[in-house]
This record gives sequence, C-alpha cells and structure tokens, in this order.
Amino acid sequence: LFVTLEGGDGSGKSTQAELLAEWLRASGREVVRTREPGGTDVGLEIRELVLHHRGDIAPRAEALLYAADRAHHVATLVRPALERGAVVLQDRYLDSSVAYQGAGRVLDADEVRRLSLWATDDLLPDLTILLDLDEAAARARLDGARTRYDRLEAEGASFHARVRAAYLELAAAEPERFLVLDATLPVDELATAIREAVGERLVG
Ligand code: C5P
Repeated sequence: LFVTLEGGDGSGKSTQAELLAEWLRASGREVVRTREPGGTDVGLEIRELVLHHRGDIAPRAEALLYAADRAHHVATLVRPALERGAVVLQDRYLDSSVAYQGAGRVLDADEVRRLSLWATDDLLPDLTILLDLDEAAARARLDGARTRYDRLEAEGASFHARVRAAYLELAAAEPERFLVLDATLPVDELATAIREAVGERLVG
C-alpha cells in the first residue's frame, strides 16, 4: 500500500506519518517511512541543490530536479518496498510538484504531472492524505517552529494561497485517492481519521 502525505509546511505531515507508522507496525506490518525530496542518497544531494542553491534555478530545471529525485526514489526504494508487501508512508509526492511548481505560475500543471508520471513509470499512490491549512494557521505554526527555510516568507502569502488552491483542486479531481483533513483539528482526531482510511484500503 502506497500512502502519501501532502500539505504546506507546518501542516503536520511528519507527526501524522509517525503516528500512522507506529499503529501499522504494532499490527505487524512492515512500514517504510520516506520523503521527497531526499528519500535516497542521490535524492539528498538533489534536495540540497534544489532547496539550498544560492540563486535562482530555472523553473524547468527545478521541475526536472524534483522529477529526477522522484525517479530514483521510486525505482530504488518505493517500488521494491511495495513489491515485498510493505506499506510505504511518504511525505510529499507528485501532488507537491503539481501544487508547488504549478503554483509558481510558470509551468503548466498538466505538464508537471506528466513529467512526474514519466519519471515514475506511472506510479500513483493508493491514498493521499491532504492536511489542509489556511494561510493564517500556516503562518502561526511556522512562526512558532522557525523552519529552516520558510517558503511562505520568501514567496509571500499569495504563494501559499495558490499552493493550497492547487492542492484542493487536485483532491477534487481525484476524490477516491484523496482524504482531505483540516490540519487544525487535534492531532489524535486526525490520526483516527487517517487510520480509518488506511484500514479500509488494507482490507479492500
Ligand atoms: O516537506 P519538506 O520540508 O521536505 O519540503 C521542502 C520544500 O520543498 C517545501 O516547502 C516546498 O517549498 C518545496 N517543494 C517543492 N516541490 C516539490 C517538493 C517540495 O517546491 N515537489
């Protein structure tokens, strides 16, 4: 089972992924926790380049770097894990690329998606959990957490709004794949809703 977590910075993806992993492991399942960008050694180098490079990277080059990270990650880690029956819990996947690179307004969302599908030989998640956070809540959380790089600060508030809108549009287009949750709900309520959705897919 391939489960991805999506949402803006500070939406609580890692917390929920950890809780879900614990729950699945307690029931005896193999869980592989991973993330993009940077789920492999090659990916870590790409992550460093794409997130910490001084100066601009051309939008198409940036999209290709994320796609390269994803191609290597899926081929060497995600697919092998799925093939041996593990549950893969992953922070960010192709929906991040469509939402972030698409929201930059330079690239076409469909093109970004097609690039990602080519890179992964058409691997789509069985379930994508979108932790939806409005602008004010996102800002409050990031102020508290002092993240290493604050895209919200760098790109301005409207960027967050565009990313959020893009995510919600993706979820509306594929309602059977997405579970959209209000990220401001209490942690245990979110965890329960997520377990339910994952449990259904494990038996189904
Ligand atoms: O979730 P994480 O901290 O790994 O995300 C790093 C940042 O990379 C995100 O805040 C986002 O700005 C960016 N990103 C992106 N396109 C992707 C994945 C991540 O722009 N496909």
